[in-house]
Order: sequence, then structure tokens, then C-alpha cells
Amino acid sequence: MSTISLTLEDIYNLSKKTLLFNGCDNQNASILSDTIMRAERDGSLSHGLFRLPAYVASLRSKKVKGNAKPTIENKAPGVIRILGDGGFAPIVLSVGLPAIIDLTKKNGVGVLAITNSHHMAALWPETEAIAEAGLVGFACTAYKPMVAPAGAKQSLFGTNPISFAWPRPGKTPVVYDMATASMAMGEVQVAAREGHSVPLGTGLNKDGKETTNPSEIADGGVLLPFGGYKGSAISMMVELLAGALLGEWFSFEAKELDNNDGGPPKGGEFILAMSPDKIAGQNWEEHADQLFEKMLALEGVRLPGERRHKNRLNLGPREINKELIEKINKLSE
Ligand code: NDP
Repeated sequence: MSTISLTLEDIYNLSKKTLLFNGCDNQNASILSDTIMRAERDGSLSHGLFRLPAYVASLRSKKVKGNAKPTIENKAPGVIRILGDGGFAPIVLSVGLPAIIDLTKKNGVGVLAITNSHHMAALWPETEAIAEAGLVGFACTAYKPMVAPAGAKQSLFGTNPISFAWPRPGKTPVVYDMATASMAMGEVQVAAREGHSVPLGTGLNKDGKETTNPSEIADGGVLLPFGGYKGSAISMMVELLAGALLGEWFSFEAKELDNNDGGPPKGGEFILAMSPDKIAGQNWEEHADQLFEKMLALEGVRLPGERRHKNRLNLGPREINKELIEKINKLSE
């Protein structure tokens, strides 16, 4: 694979220039470019520059508003509803996260109900921001059907990611962020682009047969849930939390109503924040650290989020796929 070396600043500037050219206002372009840059910085490669052409496609088709101005509704003492104004999720989150953090610090628990937004990024930026404020964070969102419920050969669920972050004051939070599919579709597409195979159990080809060829899964096949019927149940939970609970679309509804421009469909995101200071009171930090220490004492164990946090320490340039850069450069011509 040929690559081009880009600094983190180059990555941010390339994203911003491309988004501005394609109809984002300065604020929307800045926030989304920061999310893209942070994904590349942390090695969340399927959610960095790789997603920029799809973001641009949904700006060009006018499915997503590049000048979105999300607004907040206080629905109940512990519930903030945010109307996303048809914008990309990072812009909506930039308004919603400070509000939910503030509310949860006072209340002990808070729900952020995000509606009319378009999510195609990783979820760790939101849960990690909540944990960095000393709170426990949980987030999930649905997408379009790509995953067959356990027992089926046809898709119904989205890849429906969930993320959880635990605060560790003075230290980096512990964060997991995962698709409830055996693998995120973005990872399958990256594997196809790089010519790698994927493990058996990742998905089925268009004839309903198991395959290790990522192209066969991405083109007309389906993904499988992680962990069989157990992952399938968690994926159903995500549909209910991010769809029915918020008054937003299920993945299958998003597909019916999406314009299929390749960008993210309209949908909701469910976020829950909890204050251990208010719920446990004292000593919760030390208590949780005991668990992490026990885990790390076992050979072969690492904490989720550790890979990204190590990548983050490297402030040097990143090697970006040359074909991708060429494709992105054409988007501003
Ligand atoms: P991975 O399977 O790569 O990783 C899932 C989690 O497991 C990460 O938190 C990772 O931490 C952790 N992990 C991986 N290996 C280990 C290990 N050996 N020990 C301990 N922890 C480990 O992620 P997915 O492919 O499932 O998802 C990738 C991304 O795709 C996510 O960010 C998700 O939010 C995003 N996504 C977004 C969608 C959307 O609609 N917006 C849809 C679907 C997915 P670490 O990062 O440190 O490796």
C-alpha cells in the first residue's frame, strides 16, 4: 500500500478545506475536522479520513446540513433532548455534551436524547469526554441494516456500536467502543481495500454462506452479530434505545427513508451519564483501580482504550493511504 505522510495539523486542514468547499460553515467544518483528526491520531482508522468522502456525499445531496445549529430541550429533570437540526453527530455533541455533564454533576444521572442527527464516527469521543469530566458514560446509536439477527441470513440490525467509559481522575479513562457486529463495516471495508482476509464468523456472502473475503461481505453480503444470539440481543437493545426510546428511526426505517448517498442516515443517539461521586460517594476510584490492577496482573490482559491512548502519545505524522488522499483532493476541485 502506498502512503503519504501527513501531520495531525495537515489532516485537520485537509478535512476542513474539503468540508468548507462542500458546503459546511466554519463551525461545522471545524468540529467535524477535529473529530476526523482525533480518529487518525488515535488509530481509529475506519472513522478518520476514510469517512470524509461519505460525509461530502451527504453534504452534496443535501441530506445533511453543513450549517446545522442544534438546540436543547429540557424534557424532565434528568433528561435533555437535543434536536440535531439535521447535522453531523459531532456538531450535535458539541452542544449536548457540556449540557449533560453539567446536569449529571448536579443530578447524579442524566440522559442525553439526540434526535435528527447523522452519526458515522466512533463513539469514544463522547463517552471519553464524559469520563474526563469524572462521570461514567454510555452511548449507543443505530445505523442502516447490515447485520443479520442470530439465526437469520438477511440483515435487519445496524452495526449498532456501544461505548462505555469509566473515569479515572488523574489518569486516562478506561473506554471500550465496539460495534455489536462481529466487526464494524468500516473495518471490513478497510480490510477489503488493504487486501486482508477477515475471520470466519464475521459475515455471510450474498448466498448466505460464511466467508473470510471482506469484499464478499461488503458487496451484497451481511455481517453477523458478535457472540451469536447474545450479541444479537445487545444489538436489539441498541435499536430500542437509539430508536423507540428517543422517538427516532430503527435501522430498517433509516434504510427505507435514506437517499443512499453513501453518507450516514438520519437517526438518534442515546447517551447515559452517571456520577460515581453522587452514587457511590467515596472510594470508588480506588475500588475500581483494584479491579484494573487485578486484570492487568493476568498475563495477556490489556485494558480497552489502551491501544488508542498509546497511539495518541505519538504527535508525529501519520501514514495515510495515497489513493484515499487523491480521492479526497478531487473533492475540492
Ligand atoms: P474493535 O473490535 O477494534 O475494538 C472494540 C473495543 O475492544 C475497543 O474499545 C478496543 O480498544 C477493545 N479491544 C480490542 N482488542 C482488545 C484486547 N485485546 N484487549 C482489551 N480490549 C481490546 O472495534 P470495532 O471494530 O467493533 O468498532 C470500531 C469502531 O467503529 C468503534 O469506534 C465504533 O464506535 C465504530 N462504529 C461506528 C458506527 C456508527 O454508526 N457511528 C457503526 C459501527 C461502528 P482499543 O481501541 O484500545 O483497541
